[in-house]
Amino acid sequence: MNNLVQKQRNYFKTHKTKPLSFRVQQLNKLQEVLKSNEKLIYDAIYKDFKKSEFDTFVTELALLYHDIKEAKKNLKKWAKVKSVKTNMLNFPAKSYIIPEPLGVCLVIGAWNYPYQLTLAPAIAAMTAGNTVVIKPSELSSETSAVMAKLINENFDSEYLKVIEGGIPETTELLEQKFDKIFFTGSTQVGKIVYQAAAKNLTPVTLEMGGKSPAFVIKDCNLKMTVKRLVWAKFLNAGQTCIAPDYVLVDETIEKEFLELVKIEIEKENFSIENGNYTQIINERNLDRLSKMIDTDKVYYGGETESLDRIIQPTVLKNVILSDNVMQEEIFGPILPVISYTNLEDAIEQVNDLPKPLSCYIFSSKKEQVKKILNEISFGGGAVNDAVMHIANSKLPFGGVGDSGIGSYHGESGFKTFSHYKSILEKTTLMELSLKYYPHSKTKLNWIQRFIGI
Ligand code: NAD
Repeated sequence: MNNLVQKQRNYFKTHKTKPLSFRVQQLNKLQEVLKSNEKLIYDAIYKDFKKSEFDTFVTELALLYHDIKEAKKNLKKWAKVKSVKTNMLNFPAKSYIIPEPLGVCLVIGAWNYPYQLTLAPAIAAMTAGNTVVIKPSELSSETSAVMAKLINENFDSEYLKVIEGGIPETTELLEQKFDKIFFTGSTQVGKIVYQAAAKNLTPVTLEMGGKSPAFVIKDCNLKMTVKRLVWAKFLNAGQTCIAPDYVLVDETIEKEFLELVKIEIEKENFSIENGNYTQIINERNLDRLSKMIDTDKVYYGGETESLDRIIQPTVLKNVILSDNVMQEEIFGPILPVISYTNLEDAIEQVNDLPKPLSCYIFSSKKEQVKKILNEISFGGGAVNDAVMHIANSKLPFGGVGDSGIGSYHGESGFKTFSHYKSILEKTTLMELSLKYYPHSKTKLNWIQRFIGI
């Protein structure tokens, strides 16, 4: 690991990663590698947790192709030196900001969208002119192996390298000095990464999870709400960081809401065969999720097929905050429904929990939407939809508090992997003598005038 990081550092020091032409060339190469190996990519993820080609394309590859296209289109604009006004005290001079790459970056990814969560940050880092070490999750091991093969066979390791492995390998990587660490995973491991980074004063972006609520308010378009919520919740069998974790529904529409949810789940007909459902990633998670299903509260589903690692879409009703299912992020196909009598109390309940990664508000009343947006702090979200905000790269994606530090996607990804160097450039043709000794009342008056006080 030490050798690898040193090699990348030496390469970065040659400045070869900095020209925009080099960055575009490498992005093109990555696109070509992905495009010509899609079959390998689809097969690997299917082996890991039976994710279909359709879902892999839509939720992983499409986003990566889009990121590459957008980066190439905007690179010149993002990397441009930006002139800013010079203040009177520094007159005459020019002031400008130079975006520069940070250096050697480490990207640690989670398993649930294994291509997107490692390669999208890597694309942002490459676009900003860095070298990158990628550590995908050991839980999606087939995918990680394919990623290692594709990247390591096609790129120089001094520029881009995939390291496979779990805790020991990541721990060793974290002992190295990087210029940036970008982590996607649980809050618990995020804390370990943050501590390791602090030893070297390495800046971090932490993309973590949490319990993302969905408010279903009395005046919403209930049919549309249910359709969008059910899709967002059971996509990838609920193993999505921004999936609605639980629903807060107005008690007066709870019954109708539950009935419509049941109808919609049956209509969607979630199954591996239909390509719209996946396995639970491993037995440990299957076991963890099974313990969250309180049989007394099952409204729909609840069955588990242990051998195939499948949990049927499950809806729990009459859920209260002290229930097992409300103690941690679910990250699986279980939807707890909590009814509320008044919105104020529901907001307070959410605010008693750590700040979530997302929040969804289904309502047609502007004041209620505004109230929730104003009173709850969360990473990002949607009004009258769920999950889809991730598909707009103009929206910086990231958490707040326990759900994350920093953001990426589109230009925010470029910024995340850049340092903005501020420069004041003075002329040597003249010099104002105000700051120099001997001081005088007149000089002080002028300085005060320039500052504007
Ligand atoms: P995880 O934290 O267990 O693992 C993430 C990465 O950290 C893996 O590469 C793993 O090898 C490594 N790791 C695990 N334990 C480690 C340790 N002790 N020391 C050093 N490295 C370690 O998370 P996961 O199970 O892969 O993913 C699920 C979590 O990720 C959920 O909380 C989910 O919400 C979150 N997530 C967040 C986003 C986001 O964009 N915010 C996206 C996907 C998943």
